[in-house]
Order: sequence, then C-alpha cells, then structure tokens
Amino acid sequence: MIIKTKVYTFSRGGIHFEDPSAPSRDTCVTAFLPVLSIIPLVHHTGSRALPAVSVGDSVKEGMLVGRGLDPGSANIHAVVPGKVVRTVSWKMLEGHTNEALVIRMEGAFDKLGRREEIFPWQDISPVKLRNLISEYGVVTMESSGLPVSELIASFQAMRGPRSLVVRCVFDDPWLAADYVLCRERLKAMVEGSVIAARASMAERIIYAVSRRERELGDLFLAEAAAYNIPASAVLVGSRYPQQNRRELEIVLRIYAKREGIDLGEILLLGPATLAAIHDAVKLRRPILDRYVAVGGAAVKNPQVMKVRIGTRIGDLFEECGGFTGTPGRIATGSPILGRVVQDLDEPVIKNSYAVFALPTKRSDKVRNCIGCGECRAVCPVGLDPEELFKAARVSSAAGSFAGSPGDVSGPVMADHCHGCGCCELVCPSRLPLSTVIANFARGTPLQELQGRF
Ligand code: SF4
Ligand code: SF4
Repeated sequence: MIIKTKVYTFSRGGIHFEDPSAPSRDTCVTAFLPVLSIIPLVHHTGSRALPAVSVGDSVKEGMLVGRGLDPGSANIHAVVPGKVVRTVSWKMLEGHTNEALVIRMEGAFDKLGRREEIFPWQDISPVKLRNLISEYGVVTMESSGLPVSELIASFQAMRGPRSLVVRCVFDDPWLAADYVLCRERLKAMVEGSVIAARASMAERIIYAVSRRERELGDLFLAEAAAYNIPASAVLVGSRYPQQNRRELEIVLRIYAKREGIDLGEILLLGPATLAAIHDAVKLRRPILDRYVAVGGAAVKNPQVMKVRIGTRIGDLFEECGGFTGTPGRIATGSPILGRVVQDLDEPVIKNSYAVFALPTKRSDKVRNCIGCGECRAVCPVGLDPEELFKAARVSSAAGSFAGSPGDVSGPVMADHCHGCGCCELVCPSRLPLSTVIANFARGTPLQELQGRF
C-alpha cells in the first residue's frame, strides 16, 4: 500500500519550531560505556521500584535489580555486568528524592556484541505478551514513562473498535533521536507495533507520519505488509504541537471519517517504545540503551548518541566536546518543556530522549506582560494564557489556588491547557506561562516558581 499525499493538520494556533542548536539527525555515534552506571529506582510515573539487590551483590547485564510493585511503577534492570558498589540519592527540582544503585562495570557481557536468541511470539496470547512487556520494564520512552503494560491493560478493557496509532510526528527538532531510531531500527519498530497491536487487541495499525518524513511512512507500510493486520499511514502536519494527543487525535478522526474507517479507541505509542516492546518480547531483553539528542547553544558539538541507560549526563556533554562557556540552563527533553537537571551526575533514564545546555537561564530577562497577544495567537486550545497567568498570580498572592466552577478564568479553564508550552515559547516577556498555568490547574501553590516571575 502507498501512503496517500493528503496532509492533515490541526486548525488553530501552534508554531513552526526550528532550533539550529539541536543536533543533526543525519548521523549518530555510540557513547562510551560508563565505568559506573547510575540506575535510578524511578524511570517511570509511579513510586520507586523495590530494590532486588544490595550493595556488594554482583549483577549480570539485563538482570532485574528493582521490582515495580505499585501502579505506575516498572521493573528496573542492570544495564552492564558488575557489582553494586553503593546507593546514591538526590533531591529532584519537583521536591521528591530519587534514589539509584551505582553499578561498577566488571565481568563479561551476556548481550552486548553477541548474537541474540530469537523468541517466536506469533502464538503467544495477548495476556502473555502484556506480561512480557511488564516483566522487561517497558515504559513510554518519548514522554513521562508510563508503564506500557498498564496502558495496554486499560486499552484491552475498552469496548468497541480499537486502533494502535504509531506516532512518528517530528514537529520538534529535539525529536532527532526518534528519527534516528526509525531509520536504524525500522524493522524492529514495525514488528514492535504489530506485537503491541496483538497485545492490546487492536484491529488495525495507523502510522501517523509528519509530511517532511513521508519516506518513513512508505517504509513502514512496506515492512508492515509482511504481517497479517490492516495497516495504513496518514500524513500529518509538522507544526508543533501536532504530536500532542489532542491535536493528533483531531486530525486522525478527520482522516478516518474521510476514509470511512471506524478508529474507535486509540492507543498511541512512539517509535522508541515500540522498539523496546520488540526487544522485550522477541529478544527477552530489557531497555539497556536508548538514542539521545545532545545539544544546545552552550554545547560545542551537538550530536545524536546511542547511550547506555545510567550514563552520567555530564559524560554525554564531554563526548560532545564540552561547553562553549558556563551554561545557564541544563535540562532533559525539548527546550520547550524541558526538565531542569540539577547535577551533571544525573543519569540518562528510559525516557531521556534529549539533553541540552543553553547559555542563559529561562528566567533571565523576565519582564512584565506587554499585552502583545502572541500567547493567544499560538494556543491550539483557544485559551487566553495571559489571563490565566494573571489569575494564577492573583490567586497565589491571595493565598488560595482553589477556583470555583463558575470562574471561567480560574482552574476550570486552566484545566483545558495540555501544557504544550507554545505560549511560553513565543512570549517576548519570557513569562513562565505554561508552567504557572499547569500549577494553577492542579491547584498547587506557586512558591517554588516565584523566582521565575
Ligand atoms: S501551554 Fe496551555 S495555555 Fe499555553 S499554548 Fe499550550 S495549551 Fe495554550
Ligand atoms: S505573549 Fe507574553 S507579553 Fe504577550 S500578551 Fe502573552 S503574556 Fe503578555
């Protein structure tokens, strides 16, 4: 099947996000294996995994070292063979403490550089597939680290038609690592999508591909033709935040109506997650490494790197030639929404798709609102970020963040914000709009953000 040329895009707001300081996606280098791997007990949305090893224990590559017991929690594995030499903990910016096992590499690798055993999966039941995905600790690697087995379990419980949507939407140059993965592991990614569809009992697979990467759509369909499941590809726009669930679902529903398809419920998964599902089920291998985009204007030689989980973020910058000066802001994720890194000893985790260093802090040169209206123009939801920001500050100053349902500028409206960050990116006064609005929606106080005003 050939991908159709019509491009579907959301109608309101959004931005064309270009960033020359993001790394090129034409090349990829493999980072050095770290002598000391720092393996946090939280790579996911839920509570910390329960340690399955102690200081002094020897571990093998891929061995279980932390059990995810609670909802939102996932299993954690050793990424190198070696010995657990200590545990470390550090305070995250959000206030909670993270804890990690430090593994000193020694001994032989079981998987690296060896031909891996293949496990046929075609006759495995959906429940068993889901259990394998859980056992090997697969989480969503392009977002907040939700355990995929939980997503599949709730998806399985839904009634009516179901579709798996593969999100290959490159509306942000900081998704360079996902693009590299799509090129280098295309077969694994497509097979992972077929496994995910079987595990979740989806009746079809839709590959949502941004129009600039149309060639990927053709390659996905050619590869998916080997499997016995209906698959199609839809071209979508490249305007940010086309990859957001809301904006993507809008265009998918339009596409489905035109094509006469009943999509029903949608399970949305990204390329790195699907490759991890493939590895868990077909190779019985946990997530040992991932592709990471390393760059930013304060980094000498930005590049996409294949990195072992647990590698220090500081080591990645060093392999990129170091800094051009003293960086003002270091964070993981895209500069639009990145999470600040407090310490260069923080490790790469399963969902670290990008790390960057910028010369200035985000809060540098914050000024008062000049009423330009740029934030309103780019909001894809149609909100008034300026008004919501003012309302948040007034509520915060009054010592209360609770809104009433009738208060249209209060948390009820803020609740519609999906945190895309467009408003914050375009604000000439550099106001932390989406950060404040998200806190407003949650009804939490803003003390920790006061320094940014
Ligand atoms: S972060 Fe929220 S308010 Fe700002 S543009 Fe996105 S949806 Fe609109
Ligand atoms: S973009 Fe910034 S300066 Fe302009 S109206 Fe919105 S909050 Fe005010």
